[in-house]
Amino acid sequence: MQTQTVMDQPKFDLDQTMEHLVQLIHRPSITPNDAGCQQYLSRVFQRLGMQCHAFEVEGVSNLVAKIGKGKTRIAFAGHTDVVPAPYPEQWSADPFTLTDVDGLLIGRGVADMKGGIAAMLTAFEHALPHINLDDFTFYFLITSDEEGEAEYGTAEIMEYLKQRDEVPHYCIIGEPSSQSKVGDVIKVGRRGSVSGEVVIQGVQGHVAYPQDANNAAHKAMMLGRWLSELSWDEGSKDFPGSQLQITSIDTGTWTDNIIPGQCTLRFNVRYSHKQSQEQIIKRITDGLMQLKQLTKNIDIKWSRPCKPYFTSGSSIVDEASQNINIPTHIAPQDIDLIAEVERAIFNELKLFPRLSMSGGTSDGRFIAAAGCQVVELGLPNHSIHKTDEHVKKHDLHELTKVYKSVLLQILA
Ligand SMILES: [Zn+2]
Repeated sequence: MQTQTVMDQPKFDLDQTMEHLVQLIHRPSITPNDAGCQQYLSRVFQRLGMQCHAFEVEGVSNLVAKIGKGKTRIAFAGHTDVVPAPYPEQWSADPFTLTDVDGLLIGRGVADMKGGIAAMLTAFEHALPHINLDDFTFYFLITSDEEGEAEYGTAEIMEYLKQRDEVPHYCIIGEPSSQSKVGDVIKVGRRGSVSGEVVIQGVQGHVAYPQDANNAAHKAMMLGRWLSELSWDEGSKDFPGSQLQITSIDTGTWTDNIIPGQCTLRFNVRYSHKQSQEQIIKRITDGLMQLKQLTKNIDIKWSRPCKPYFTSGSSIVDEASQNINIPTHIAPQDIDLIAEVERAIFNELKLFPRLSMSGGTSDGRFIAAAGCQVVELGLPNHSIHKTDEHVKKHDLHELTKVYKSVLLQILA
């Protein structure tokens, strides 16, 4: 097995995508710290003649780069932040040095999603001389807060664009959408999500004298059982169904001779277009009130609400338009973004991608909420957030080709 850090290889061996990726992986941008990634990107954008607006909100770095004066606005979007790499000794190589092991590139963020950004940069640079900048304006929207709370990242970028009346009509996000090879799956929507926390009160006591106590953990378990047995919708052919998962049952500081007097139960609901957040909250709140004998002094808190989004003209749009973000922003040039992405994937890779709405939430929701058509197309995602996150060098090149092809089809 031949292992070498990519930085050791002679420069002429690297194509542009690899060069960008080396630079990005080398900067340990653990969310929401950008670690200079966007400064690097700004230099590249400026060299290409783009105007850059970099701004920071609550420690989050955001970057909007723009070129052209056309009325139809198209964007590539992505994030420079990565999840941490705990236990680096378990990695085959330093997580923050791009390492090539027989054509497999290892490093934190290679798949999610510095590889996607690197491919977008190269594709754009190659397509730029052919882009019609009178009819189109092209943007890169980059944040350092996708893996964390996502509160001051893409949401703030969209706010900035709204104020300037520059919301894009079409956007491709470089999130790792693919499964086993580039282009086999693209994401055209995501389910919604909301988290709940219930604090259950009991009476603390000695385990040997249960008659003088009221066990909050026992009550929490009954409540948890009720929550976990609620039945939800099955979704549709486009959307996976809704589901609730208990994520924590916590009695605080533990000793084996105390009956806990308080217990906190946490759960998360992922929901399809058949539910709205309001319906979910009402159903659970009403249900808990019925269980009052279990839960006197109940206190429910809701957090991290994320609305679903969906890009397409499918039938579920009518059925669910009140629950969901669907594209409503009409562009001067009428483009079917999904069809264009499918065509590019077929032309370059002879594949028909599966359209999916599975997976966690993504920043697509903020962009789609402004009325923009959003498609997520990126590298295979099987190693994301794991030890030894990796991509095939080959996949990086395939993705660069597909991005370039989409740009030329739409913008040339
Ligand atoms: Zn990501």
